[in-house]
Amino acid sequence: MNTHLAKKFISIDRDFIWHPYTQMKDFEHKDPLFVERGEGVFLYDVYGKAYYDTISSWWCIVHGHNHPHIKEAITRQINILDQVHFAGTTHEPAIRVAELLREFVPKRLSRIFFSDNGSTAVEVALKMAVQYWHHAGFSEKNTFVSLEYGYHGDTIGAMSLGGVPQFKGPFDALTFDSIRLPAPYCYRCPMGQEKGECDIDCLNPLEDILKEKRDQIAGIILEPLLMGAGGMLVYPETYLKRLEALIKDKEIFLIFDEVATGFARTGEMFAFMKAGVIPDFLCISKGLTGGILPLGATLTTEDVFNSFYAEYIEGKTFYHGHTFTANPLSTAAARASLELFKLNPIVESVKAKELILQNSVKAFMDFPFVGDIRGIGMVWAFELVKDKETKTPFPTEFRAGWKVYQEGLKHGLILRPLGDVTYLFLPQCITKRQIEDCLQRLWTTFEACKKTFSS
Ligand code: PLP
Repeated sequence: MNTHLAKKFISIDRDFIWHPYTQMKDFEHKDPLFVERGEGVFLYDVYGKAYYDTISSWWCIVHGHNHPHIKEAITRQINILDQVHFAGTTHEPAIRVAELLREFVPKRLSRIFFSDNGSTAVEVALKMAVQYWHHAGFSEKNTFVSLEYGYHGDTIGAMSLGGVPQFKGPFDALTFDSIRLPAPYCYRCPMGQEKGECDIDCLNPLEDILKEKRDQIAGIILEPLLMGAGGMLVYPETYLKRLEALIKDKEIFLIFDEVATGFARTGEMFAFMKAGVIPDFLCISKGLTGGILPLGATLTTEDVFNSFYAEYIEGKTFYHGHTFTANPLSTAAARASLELFKLNPIVESVKAKELILQNSVKAFMDFPFVGDIRGIGMVWAFELVKDKETKTPFPTEFRAGWKVYQEGLKHGLILRPLGDVTYLFLPQCITKRQIEDCLQRLWTTFEACKKTFSS
């Protein structure tokens, strides 16, 4: 695209469009990245410059952009059936994807409810859990336990359970209370212990909570092994095991939000599989379609399903649904994506790539402003600090993460940060050579920031 036309489009964008999670005033100094096309792990701007899609287009791209198999599935489907409501109707793409997904999850998760994004997949789990207890005669079981720094989406219910203060601040009057547990933020351990040396004491408060409030708790919700938006906090599998033991036989649902961690991002098809802890509800989205089209799903047990299965007059119907629930194009894309998981050893390849990443990122600790490096599978994060010894953060107004992001763009990386956490959330399909190239560019980016950060 020529510069004149690009500038014209940008000025329309600036005049009319309001972008998500964006301080629009920033565009006074810096145009948004004007993306024209995507191919594999790359995005290309309108001037032809290539960027690694380092954050998988908000954590969803799995097989790469413009994948022929997924593209073909969508194209085939659009000529047959593009959209139909899903109440009282069904269609082949939805049935096929459900049939395939069943092969990838434990038998216990025998029922699937489709929706259209991650937040709604979570809302469905919350509503099903509360309605289940209502059917069972325990209407007072309507509170959830969630984690500080947790993130479950931006709709009011999902946001109520989120623990990132900036996202919730103005909405206190709209959100409902949940019982908060300290996050397993190992670098800044809430129990004051050293990283890697603990008995998961951050779960101790749950013991008291269960003694006092068990009868009010419908479920506990968390992102297994990797808390994304809260700062890419990685925590050990033993946390999930201890959690499972603590709530065993307590009649509290375990809800895993795998919207970000699903589809091999952590080195197993789902993160909970690493710990061998099976939830009562599994919320998925993002990578479900390979990251190409919106789709969400909530999987649950036969027990939950049966509690809703009754004569119409009993009023146990689940009154929830979205216009685009199980959209035929999205479900066709999801089927194609799952077929690729069957055809290719993606889980194994992520395990191999995780090792490369784990070994290579260690060197970044030499940078004076890298306080912590944490990661799992394809996700590796660097917490930037002003003082490494004391773990003192940079002042908010310094915008260290944002500075790295701007520098990274010059080197073909899209390092959109979470505050002062710079991270890679790489597409599973990235090759080993591309990983090395990415890390080299990240090194150059950090080198370029060194001077500004130490002055
Ligand atoms: N849950 C988790 C763990 C997420 O990371 C996200 C999005 O980043 C969501 C839920 C919300 O998904 P969506 O943005 O599709 O509504």
